[in-house]
Amino acid sequence: MAEETPMMKQYKDIKSQYGDTFLFYRLGDFYELFFDDAVQAARELEITLTRRGSSNEQHIPMCGVPYHSAEQYISTLIEKGYKIAICEQVEDPKTAKGVVRREVVQVVTPGTVMEGRAVRENENNFTAALYPCDDGTASFVKADLTTGEIEGAVLDKDTRQWQREITRTGIKELIVPSSFDAGHILPASIVCSVEEDTKLQQDFQALLPEHAGSKVESAFALLTNYFVRTQKRSLSHLQTMQLYRPKDSMQLDIHARRNLELTETLMDHNKRGSLLWLMDQSVTAMGGRLVRKWVEQPLLNVDDMKKRHSVVESFLAHYFEREELRDRLRYVYDLERLAGKTAYGNVNAREMVQLRRSLQELPELFSLLDSLDNETMKEWTERAGDFSGLRDMLEKSLADDPPVSITEGGLIKEGWHDKLDEYKEASRNGKDWISRLEKQERDATGIKSLKVGFNKVFGYYIEVTRPNIPYLPEGRYERKQTLTNAERYITPELKEKEEMILGAEHHSTELEYQLFLDIRDQVKEYLQPLQETARIISEIDVLQGFAVQSERMQYVRPEFSANRRLSITGGRHPVIEQMLDQGEYVANDMELNDQREILLITGPNMAGKSTYMRQTALLSIMAQAGCFVPAEKAELPVFDQIFTRIGASDDLTSGQSTFMVEMLETKQALSMATPDSLILLDEIGRGTSTYDGMALAQSIVEYIHERIGAKTLFSTHYHELTTLEDTMSKLFNVHVRAVEEEGNIVFLHKVEQGRADRSYGIYVAKLAELPDGVLDRAETLLHQFEGHVDRVLHEENEELTPAPVLNSSYESDAGEGEQLALFEPTPAGSDGSKQKEERKTHPVIEDLKKADVLHMSPIQALELLYEYQQKLKR
Ligand code: ADP
Repeated sequence: MAEETPMMKQYKDIKSQYGDTFLFYRLGDFYELFFDDAVQAARELEITLTRRGSSNEQHIPMCGVPYHSAEQYISTLIEKGYKIAICEQVEDPKTAKGVVRREVVQVVTPGTVMEGRAVRENENNFTAALYPCDDGTASFVKADLTTGEIEGAVLDKDTRQWQREITRTGIKELIVPSSFDAGHILPASIVCSVEEDTKLQQDFQALLPEHAGSKVESAFALLTNYFVRTQKRSLSHLQTMQLYRPKDSMQLDIHARRNLELTETLMDHNKRGSLLWLMDQSVTAMGGRLVRKWVEQPLLNVDDMKKRHSVVESFLAHYFEREELRDRLRYVYDLERLAGKTAYGNVNAREMVQLRRSLQELPELFSLLDSLDNETMKEWTERAGDFSGLRDMLEKSLADDPPVSITEGGLIKEGWHDKLDEYKEASRNGKDWISRLEKQERDATGIKSLKVGFNKVFGYYIEVTRPNIPYLPEGRYERKQTLTNAERYITPELKEKEEMILGAEHHSTELEYQLFLDIRDQVKEYLQPLQETARIISEIDVLQGFAVQSERMQYVRPEFSANRRLSITGGRHPVIEQMLDQGEYVANDMELNDQREILLITGPNMAGKSTYMRQTALLSIMAQAGCFVPAEKAELPVFDQIFTRIGASDDLTSGQSTFMVEMLETKQALSMATPDSLILLDEIGRGTSTYDGMALAQSIVEYIHERIGAKTLFSTHYHELTTLEDTMSKLFNVHVRAVEEEGNIVFLHKVEQGRADRSYGIYVAKLAELPDGVLDRAETLLHQFEGHVDRVLHEENEELTPAPVLNSSYESDAGEGEQLALFEPTPAGSDGSKQKEERKTHPVIEDLKKADVLHMSPIQALELLYEYQQKLKR
């Protein structure tokens, strides 16, 4: 094997310390990757894989990305969940002896990335740390490096709570101690990193609130040590940790958040169509981030909710002020992230100008709020920082339209610094002199075509075309560059001026850079008040947005009930309502209280059962987040948790069967719900055989009724369950009405008391335009089945039809003997086979059951139908 070059040795040394990253090794204008890094990066980034050129390193795979466009490659890798160690040359290659010294200056990870595509404007970018404690609890801390926010909590022994916290939006990376395997609670979208050191560094002690406790400290130490190890720069913008208790806000597990489409739709993961889409009418990026948090973590404290509602009310009552406020907010840039970048040292002059522009809006903005006479707004005004000094300084110092680069000048206003003004004056004078030179030289030599010019390589010159060269006086003109048709010269005076101009320009850009760093340091002094004001602005922004939406869709201010009553008049589903034309949405009432806890909702498919259930949950979330609600009138309890088992949101990716997912979600609800919770169960038991499903559905309802007492909305297509109303005191039937018109079904979407009278399956099939033959036959069969059921009921022949609806096992012996049969006389499922032997089912029906209709062509279906008809005729 050939001997290793010193550079490769350096590479391997560094790489050995950053094993789990792509090492971007700076070589001139490129970042190079070698060995396995190169092979994998070439594939992920779709760039060419080459081999190292020098003869003894021919075997080393290599690929590279240009330094100036590295950002986009880094973003791509970050989005795929990788980490990147940026290794720079830390001494000047010209003066270096031997191999240029190189060091990793930063490790960019999905959680700590500060720039580029991976950082979304309206979403936080959190890195979290979880530290399991000996007693089974865990401490949990998350921080957003772009904004400096830190939140910390101690979590219960329940690992489901851990999972709930970890899966909140915005968390991109989780840090755990090496002793803990997070695999079982971590979704694939979150990168997991291990940090060994768990001792808290002195610098960060000050960020822990006094009553934080030692538990929180462990996770905090894990997190900050990880930041120090990867970021290697100032973290002075990190804010004091906010302690929270998960139980201080409404608990929504990942299923509920997904099923209710809080921040994205189930179908295509779009924000459009989600609750957030409506509720986010914010103008600033900060507001956009906060509203997402509010939607996912509605409040539990009624006073806090009322504060928000009163602000919304005030904004609703002052249309013009609100519009002016919105106009002003448009000029308030992302103060949180600007503060973060300032502390981090990667802020540029354009961003400083954004900061200045924002600060200019603040005085008017707050005096506007002050005029609205609202307690909370007054508090805000008092808490907001005074930035007049900072603003003045930025107005005087910063140029109005600076370039992105901070090393090429153009950053500082004239009048800010005497020496800088002198340099600029000198350069200007020199340039004036040069602009006069052309005429002088033409006059002196008589050469009309003589030109004075400048280029980057040769500097200033006097250009004379070849035929005119003999007319130049001897001696004074020194030849500098020869072109095909001309010669370029310089004179001693021009040289002197050139040196002066270039010197002045060089000095002035250097000085400007220094002055800019000074300005940045002065801004750093304001980090805390800036962050505090940013928080206030985001609240203002979210709430003005709530007002805008509430006005647009005519929402009302919700009241809160002290005795767990939910009474909604004219409630609407906020998202569906907005997608329909005005007036198309059918509003519905709902009444729940401690005597009326469970609603059993029946009605044909597509009638609106699920919509009715969801709208109740959404109204509560909106109200508890501080927004008005889509209803004529709403009195609501404070729900501590909402659980859902809704629709066909099958977790296809997890590899679990639909029915298993259904049962897991149900278990979550049954084990954690309290009398203050809301449970939505949509078509429980659908995923298994009829009797199985119905038995489970009934026993689940009974369990909730007897043991939990949570408010529950339960939709079912098992009409048989409606008889439960007779035996369960707190359960009531409602149905979504549909009517039959000329043999077709018309959905009224109107919820009425009592049970639905029949199944509309065949009518829905008619709507779907199944062949007439099939529909007619189904009608006939239905009548036969109904006849059979009648006979069963009248003969009370329990052997023929098992009784799916049993009396509540949790109740003594009330209502004994009540039962109803299915339309379908033949049970299918685990125990179906035994009963089948006891009875005779027509073979056609058996065949029909086995037929795979979904995978048949129309012709095949027709043939099958024909065959059945023949059999029946026989
Ligand atoms: P189900 O759960 O009974 O099968 P859904 O709740 O899914 O029915 O509703 C089916 C469709 O009917 C919805 O997508 C919506 O377009 C419409 N819909 C439901 N409720 C209403 C309503 N109250 N007003 C107007 N349209 C409604």
